[in-house]
Amino acid sequence: MDSQIKILIIYTGGTIGMIKDNLTGSLTPFDFKGIYDQIPELNKFKYQLDFYSFNPLIDSSNIYPSHWVELATLIEKNYENYDGFVILHGTDTMSYTGSALSFLLENLNKPVILTGSQLPLGELRTDGRENFLTAIEIAAAAEDNAPLIPEVCIYFENALMRANRTIKYNAENFNAFISPNYPLLAEAGVYIKYNKNNILKPNFKKLKVYKNLVNSIGILKLFPGISYEYIHYVLNIPKQQVLIMETYGAGNAPTDNWFLEELKMAINKGLIIINVTQCLAGAVNQGKYDTSFKLKELGVVSGYDITTEALTAKIMFLLGRNLAQKELIKEMISSLRGEMTVE
Ligand code: ASP
Repeated sequence: MDSQIKILIIYTGGTIGMIKDNLTGSLTPFDFKGIYDQIPELNKFKYQLDFYSFNPLIDSSNIYPSHWVELATLIEKNYENYDGFVILHGTDTMSYTGSALSFLLENLNKPVILTGSQLPLGELRTDGRENFLTAIEIAAAAEDNAPLIPEVCIYFENALMRANRTIKYNAENFNAFISPNYPLLAEAGVYIKYNKNNILKPNFKKLKVYKNLVNSIGILKLFPGISYEYIHYVLNIPKQQVLIMETYGAGNAPTDNWFLEELKMAINKGLIIINVTQCLAGAVNQGKYDTSFKLKELGVVSGYDITTEALTAKIMFLLGRNLAQKELIKEMISSLRGEMTVE
């Protein structure tokens, strides 16, 4: 019954929670105690809505892995008491946070829906109101006593996406996020249409929450003319365990001997290099061209169609589990939470 549904709304900060200060006219985070004055429509829900606010509130550009652990722990503590969770978050790093939560929350069987907005709730033309209200509706959606969305998702501008498949690709448009390599989980129009075949199935196992993330990783974006000095420096950063290499097209890179030699030396010294494409959509296919066959021979790992955002979170999560290198690579090339399509 609707009246029994309980949703916990976690407000971390970001544009969505801003209103214009009456005196100064500038945008400041508003106190969630006044949320029902801001959005009176909330009163129309028959669900129990409870609120938790980060203190201090953060612009998501200041997010740290420790915040991801804080969020995961908060969900763990409240897991049995709530049917679903809505996280209000700045858009800038929402894809990273959503990806990290998907890995930290193993056996998740309830909805965790992140949303935010491009215009603050206090603005007349805000996109925050619709994003927020529909995110609550989705977090409460159930069928046969089981939640419809047992996943970490981003809901934004009428689209529900698996969070670890998203990227923020537009800094201005209301549809700021895309899921380039995975179809939408639901679309909201007059009705919310769930694409059930795209949604993970609940496994009804006990939630397991991981709390250790290790950030000894780096990202190298290739560009024509990249220098030996730059490559050499990046490959030899002390304590770096994994390097995400953003290559061209289907995973291609220069075939210069000096470049391949540098990669080989770094791999021999124990660095794991994983290949993702700079393209917004599509996958790495090492071996399709000669320019990627060489990488495969050297032992560069394929990231298939994973986004850099999801891979960043996934590697921090895997490093946090202290796995032996062979096991780490095995997990890296497996889809753990639907984050990539393994050919
Ligand atoms: N800088 C803001 C943030 O990510 C932008 C937003 O909320 O959309 O927190």
